[in-house]
Amino acid sequence: MKAVVVGAGPAGLYFALKLKQLEPCAEIKIVEKELRASSNGLGYVLQKPIFDLLGDIGSFSEEEFLDKCTVGWDVVDIEAKSVVSTRRFPYSVGIRRGLLVDYLRDLVQRAGVEVVYGCSLNSADITAFKRDADVVVGADGLHSVVRSFYSEEFGASAIESTNSYIWLGKTNREALMRVSVQEHKGVALVGTTYPIGRTLDTMIVEANTQKLRSSGMLSLVQTDEMISTKGLKDLEWGFFTLYSGVNLQSIHSHWSAVVVNSCERLTFENVALMGEAGISTHYSAGAGLLVAFKAAGSLAEQLTSIRHIPSALGHYNRLMLPFLLSASEMSLQSMRWLERVDSFYADLEGDAFIHAFGLKGREVSLY
Ligand SMILES: Cc1cc2nc3c(=O)[nH]c(=O)nc-3n(C[C@H](O)[C@H](O)[C@H](O)COP(=O)(O)OP(=O)(O)OC[C@H]3O[C@@H](n4cnc5c(N)ncnc54)[C@H](O)[C@@H]3O)c2cc1C
Repeated sequence: MKAVVVGAGPAGLYFALKLKQLEPCAEIKIVEKELRASSNGLGYVLQKPIFDLLGDIGSFSEEEFLDKCTVGWDVVDIEAKSVVSTRRFPYSVGIRRGLLVDYLRDLVQRAGVEVVYGCSLNSADITAFKRDADVVVGADGLHSVVRSFYSEEFGASAIESTNSYIWLGKTNREALMRVSVQEHKGVALVGTTYPIGRTLDTMIVEANTQKLRSSGMLSLVQTDEMISTKGLKDLEWGFFTLYSGVNLQSIHSHWSAVVVNSCERLTFENVALMGEAGISTHYSAGAGLLVAFKAAGSLAEQLTSIRHIPSALGHYNRLMLPFLLSASEMSLQSMRWLERVDSFYADLEGDAFIHAFGLKGREVSLY
């Protein structure tokens, strides 16, 4: 079998590993637009189900991998209006994106998969891949070119939130995950912090785009797509009282609109979508890698157990579409709650706000 994978992110690499494991003679080529493993994102929270999926890869060594991860935690602190509530959280570890992607890429290359970096694709390339390969996999993230090239065929749509987020580094070390909601310049800033390395945490700040703009925080902080020092200081002051002097770092950080992708079909002819390129989830659900790996594993299994490619892709679509749509819908409840965070923050007392934050419109709390 000949497969071309567009995108060497977690989804594309995991798919290649599973396919190679199930069919060692498969010819797989991964094309990646960046010159090396992409720094698209700083680092992730990994829970047990993700380890189980990684453990399914024959060459995966948990010991070697855990060495790249932080010490684990099993609680989350939620802070707002001077109230702190500590809640149970599924046992998790943190990892820098670069370390995760580099580790998967090394396994992929050792398995004999060709990975071509610095490949800027155009529509002719995609047509040629489709003609020459048995299957083309679009694993090229939220702004996927494969998805947009066959947008109508996939029934692709995207929901853009009224909120924006920025993904920052933070040098003060926290031992666990913390979510802090703080009003600064009339804007409710939701800051989610978790450890991703021995000396680095990450902090994702989300807030209403319009309010960020009118407060000056959106335009002041952004210079040439990068956050300026003045902007960082401004955000640091936003969280200063909670973190007694946070030290934020811009690592190619910029404000982006929160976007969640969806589609009516995951496949078209011999092309399949997976990961953020297909149906994505709002990051606050913490489900991104889990659903990406599940879909990648499922596609590899269908392709190798059903030798007829159109039938295998049909099975993949039937199995994964309902699962991904329901994961995405659950995460959208969280996204919609966060879009109204300013009014909840204004109307509710600390305890009630934290309780509502924990549920975010769901009956069962994620935190
Ligand atoms: C703020 C934030 C926090 C998150 N935190 C978590 C978390 O804690 N835990 C979790 O499980 N998930 C988390 N996620 C979700 C996680 O980032 C995604 O699930 C994951 O990145 C999906 O992987 P992917 O391979 O589908 O896409 P990506 O990671 O976006 O990788 C796509 C790859 O394709 C490449 N590419 C793009 N365009 C092209 C092109 N034209 N040609 C070739 N290559 C191309 C990119 O360079 C990249 O390497 C978070 C997301 C956000 C936004």
